[in-house]
This record gives sequence, C-alpha cells and structure tokens, in this order.
Amino acid sequence: MNTPTLHEHHGRWPQATTLDDFRHNLAAVRARIAAACQRVGRDPASVRLLPVSKTKGEATIRLAYAAGCREFGENKPQEAYRKWEAMADLTDLRWSVIGHLQTNKAKLVARCAAEFQALDSLRVAEALDRRLQAEGRALDVLVQVNTSGEASKYGLSPADAAAFLHALPAFAALRVRGLMTLAILSAEPARVRRCFVLLRDLRDRLRAAAPDGIALDELSMGMSGDYEIAIEEGATVVRVGQAIFGARATPDSDYWPAGAEPR
Ligand SMILES: *Cc1c(COP(=O)(O)O)cnc(C)c1O
Repeated sequence: MNTPTLHEHHGRWPQATTLDDFRHNLAAVRARIAAACQRVGRDPASVRLLPVSKTKGEATIRLAYAAGCREFGENKPQEAYRKWEAMADLTDLRWSVIGHLQTNKAKLVARCAAEFQALDSLRVAEALDRRLQAEGRALDVLVQVNTSGEASKYGLSPADAAAFLHALPAFAALRVRGLMTLAILSAEPARVRRCFVLLRDLRDRLRAAAPDGIALDELSMGMSGDYEIAIEEGATVVRVGQAIFGARATPDSDYWPAGAEPR
C-alpha cells in the first residue's frame, strides 16, 4: 500500500455523489484503519470512524447515511444545528461538534450535539453546562489540546491541561471522555507523528491523576491526511471528511484561521 502524501487537500479526493461512491470510500477508509491497527497490534474495533460532513449538503449527507454512517462531525455549531434540524427524521443519527465554540453558540450545541470535541476554556464549559442543565441533557466532551504549538490552532497548551481537567467536575452535565487534537499541517510524517505522541503521553499522565468522574479513554486524532499515523499512535477516534465525501472547496483556513494552509 502506498503511503499517502500528507495534507494534499485539494484534487486528491474525488467527490462522492452516489451511494456506491460512499460504500467504496467507507470500505477503503475502513481497510486502511484495519491495516494501521494490524501494524501495531490493535483491534480495529477500538477505533471509531467519525465521518466529517462539514460544507456538504443534505442530499449528500443522506447518501452517506444510506451507506451506513450513523454519526457526522461538523466544525461549526450553526451548521451542525441546521443539519440536525433538517435531518431530524433520521432518529438514530448523532451529531458531533468538533470545532471551536463561542459561548453565545453554546445553546445550539447543548440542543443538537451528542458530543462536543473542542472544549478549551472554562467559560465555554460554564456556558455549555448551564445550557445543558436547562435542556435536561448531558453531553460527552473531549478537551482540545494544541499539540503543534501553532498559534493558529485552538486548544489548551499541554501545560495547562491538568489544571483545566481538575476544574471540570464542577460542571455536572459535561461527561469528560478524553482529549482531541489537530496535528501540525506538515508534509513530514515525523512532525505529524510527534503531535499524536504528545497527546497520547499527555493523556497517560493526566489519566494517572485524573479527578473522580473524569475519564480519559478517548484520543480523537487523525484526519484524512494523517489518520493512519494517528491510529499507530493510539487514536480511538479518527475524524475523516475528505477521504469519504471528497475534497472540500472551502480552504481549511476557514476552520483554523491565520495561515494554516497545507504547504
Ligand atoms: C474538517 C475537520 C476534520 C476532517 O478533515 P478532512 O481533511 O476532511 O479529513 C477533522 N477535524 C476537524 C476539527 C475538522 O474541522
């Protein structure tokens, strides 16, 4: 199997427009997940594939659903909420919000999301908790850590993660499940791998001293360009968009601003 070139975001993934396209792409990604697991002696069942549907329209997402997807990741709260409302008839579908949240959008996430992967401030934790209590809901959350040191990436610095985790039991509606990161956008696999190793090591250290009720089993790391490396380093969730849906027209600078385009 060829090692894919990292972060070749445009032109590499043809658009999925039919049910067969989705079946084919999902099977291909699952085969690569299984191969990565086999290289390091992991059970493929220990890796959850989260298809990322941002920018894709309802008809396309319904095809992915028909091909077997039962959860989708969305970066932007408003977009997640709009799609959740439009596809409410798919009652077994879960939405995961994987992008930065501002407190004034906490209500949307509290209402529509089954999971929030980008918790990175106590202000957001407080706002989400309050909105969740009002909705009578609880939410699985992952804490986002900036493992690349790039100013353009959201997330806590690794040095701040322990104190942050110790403040989270105060928010009863947040069920903390683990950590999430975005690796550096680099063509050098070794630099990408370093981000994933950092997150895993941090998780292992934090888990040893975690407060009661804070579980750190999940490691959400890896996207279309680097999920195989992430799995080799212990990812339990991979967030894969373009390798399933096809390339996005929207540049990634729309999602993690300030010059984070692939080089
Ligand atoms: C878009 C996005 C992904 C998926 O990226 P692809 O290149 O489409 O696989 C993963 N994580 C986050 C936070 C995203 O916004």
